[in-house]
Amino acid sequence: MKSAWESALPQLAANTRAQIVRNEPLSLHTTLRVGGPAELFLYARDRDTLADAAALGQRLGLPILLLGEGSNVCISDSGIPGLTVRNGCRAAQIGPLTTAECGCNFMKLFLKSMGAALSGLEFAVGIPGTVGGALVSNAGAYRSNICDLVQRIEVVEQGERRWVGPEWMEFSYRDSRLRREGGRPAALLSVELALKPGDKTAIRILAKDFQYQRIRKQPWEPSAGSWFKNVLDRSLAESLPTLTPGMKESGVVPAGYLTEACGLKGFAIGGAMIAPKHGNFIVNRGSATAADLRAVAETAKRRVYDKFGVCLEAEVLSIGE
Ligand SMILES: Cc1cc2nc3c(=O)[nH]c(=O)nc-3n(C[C@H](O)[C@H](O)[C@H](O)COP(=O)(O)OP(=O)(O)OC[C@H]3O[C@@H](n4cnc5c(N)ncnc54)[C@H](O)[C@@H]3O)c2cc1C
Repeated sequence: MKSAWESALPQLAANTRAQIVRNEPLSLHTTLRVGGPAELFLYARDRDTLADAAALGQRLGLPILLLGEGSNVCISDSGIPGLTVRNGCRAAQIGPLTTAECGCNFMKLFLKSMGAALSGLEFAVGIPGTVGGALVSNAGAYRSNICDLVQRIEVVEQGERRWVGPEWMEFSYRDSRLRREGGRPAALLSVELALKPGDKTAIRILAKDFQYQRIRKQPWEPSAGSWFKNVLDRSLAESLPTLTPGMKESGVVPAGYLTEACGLKGFAIGGAMIAPKHGNFIVNRGSATAADLRAVAETAKRRVYDKFGVCLEAEVLSIGE
């Protein structure tokens, strides 16, 4: 039987139709290296192609998944029905008001801004993925988040293309409205970010320091970064004798601290394992399936709840059945 998207394909421009492939393995497009086939797959290299496909999907209510570099997702082994669009639109104009297409690599955008002696994106060093993915999860590190820089975003929503202000995103800690939307999510096309003139050497030194901290703490195996969000709970933080004074003061308990306290470092199911180096990274040891990774995450969640009464919330988005 023809899927709803197959019937809708003639409504896409001829050059867009020509770029669509069938049964593309999504494991090739995620940093975890898992994910079954996309029924239909489009690698969009220009903004109009991306916007047209998103608008058609939204107008007709067809399933559509937008993917950046797949560094914050765990896609199911059975794959994704409908159309998956990988965002390959990477243009950027650097200045105090930097405009970037959402398929632009976040870290490369930082490197370009450093080249222009503009400060603000230092925290992006070591965060893989696109600017679009960073916006969706309000990516951040070292007390900075992308939401602090956003001036305007170009979106496709309900089939219409327009610019919106940052309040439209409803940003909060590692969250935005796009993580909560169901079947017809908006597409992010480009963004304007406010950067400040700075000293190139000082920018480089700060970014290098961030990079070294990551190298020391993070595992090298394929992952999607921190699986769970850190927990903001002042009384829990105060009750933990070995938590650092800084964390006690801010009331933030790292999710990795909790899993480690449950003895879960090195815990494995199939090819998925909680990294011995970092209790909040679930890594693919080579042969993991999405089911393995999700099973490890569920076990960690249950064990932390049993020991601390805390319900960990996933930062990594599990997509598909
Ligand atoms: C080693 C490692 C370290 C990491 N460290 C950090 C860190 O320090 N801080 C942090 O915040 N994150 C971190 N991450 C997580 C991840 O890199 C970020 O969340 C990143 O911004 C995701 O970008 P992406 O392009 O890969 O998004 P994807 O994984 O491709 O997509 C994530 C979500 O965004 C949606 N999406 C993507 N692009 C668009 C678009 N244009 N329009 C609409 N929706 C879209 C997708 O549908 C999906 O729901 C880390 C990941 C790894 C692997």
